[in-house]
Amino acid sequence: MALANERDTAVLDAVLAAVADPLIVVDAAAVILRVNDAAQQAWPNLRVGSPLSFTLREPDLVDAVSEVLAGAPLVEGTLLERVPVIRSFGFRATASVSPGRARAAVLAFRDLTEARRLESMRTDFVANASHELRTPLASVLGFIETLEGPARHDPAARERFLSIMRAQAQRMARLIDDLLSLSRVEMSEHRRPEDSVDLVAVASQAVDTLKPIADERGVIVEVIVPDEPQFVLGDRDELLRVADNLIENALKYGGSGGRVAVQVEAVDETGHAPAARLSVRDWGPGIALQHLPRLTERFYRVDVVDSRSQGGTGLGLALVKHIVNRHRGRLTVESRPGEGAVFRVSLPRTPEAGQERRSNR
Ligand code: ADP
Repeated sequence: MALANERDTAVLDAVLAAVADPLIVVDAAAVILRVNDAAQQAWPNLRVGSPLSFTLREPDLVDAVSEVLAGAPLVEGTLLERVPVIRSFGFRATASVSPGRARAAVLAFRDLTEARRLESMRTDFVANASHELRTPLASVLGFIETLEGPARHDPAARERFLSIMRAQAQRMARLIDDLLSLSRVEMSEHRRPEDSVDLVAVASQAVDTLKPIADERGVIVEVIVPDEPQFVLGDRDELLRVADNLIENALKYGGSGGRVAVQVEAVDETGHAPAARLSVRDWGPGIALQHLPRLTERFYRVDVVDSRSQGGTGLGLALVKHIVNRHRGRLTVESRPGEGAVFRVSLPRTPEAGQERRSNR
């Protein structure tokens, strides 16, 4: 089948090239006439001149093409692929109806893979968050019943139960606080902070705040900072949160090493914008290699019981990662079991002229 005249063909090519989603045109025998770049990328085996079904065999899609070629105005459907990777597409099939010409069918696809992935992440997230809240809530309810019943006249038990209930309620409050912070940072992630913040001051403040926890655990915190301030483009509260989380984790999970080092330094690596780097190192048990890539996932913990008993929510590093992303910085973790861990955050330094107040960039 020939496609009308040269002008029509040129217009068709321009339309195909302009559409970012996959488009395939087939003739009345379902043999491929045209594919655009997006379709070729999605299915590299598509060949003009070959039957569509050589590459796309999904019955719903084949039926849709037959139906529109037989006269149906529009057929919609979805295409789910499992190999080589799971992908899903929504498609619409229409047919050309110009009189006197052989029919051609057009297949327009929309890649739904990313949307589906986000949807399933959201569902998982809600399930996880509810589960995390339900556990302490169930424990509080259980203790209330005990206090109303068997332990009603037992002052010693009452003291003990109330203190457990307080800890559980605090855990719920922390969880809600972390969830809200996470959603706030996520919402503002596309807006880069513009204030100039001294990373040395942030690190020192975090160390001061956490001193009671360090003392309680008998951990010495070394602070290694340059004499001059290190200004980065940032949001002070968020950066404080980053430093707090990393240092608190080092104390909680790496405190057995007896020592934590907090360092701020300027780094000028070729190929990277001038940065200031905050490193938090501990000499605790470290983290096995297989956990490292997943640490920043929400609710991911190496040891759930250990994290809970330390009052952890499993959201700390997820929050750190989002804040660092918002600051266009980098977060890296290095660890070998038995040798402790080091978390490093590099943040772009404020351009010289904007250091004292705000930067224009
Ligand atoms: P949590 O609220 O559980 O502390 P985070 O997101 O801050 O959540 O940390 C996730 C997990 O990473 C922790 O539960 C812990 O297993 C592990 N982790 C974080 N920092 C360290 C560290 N310095 N040493 C060993 N394990 C760590």
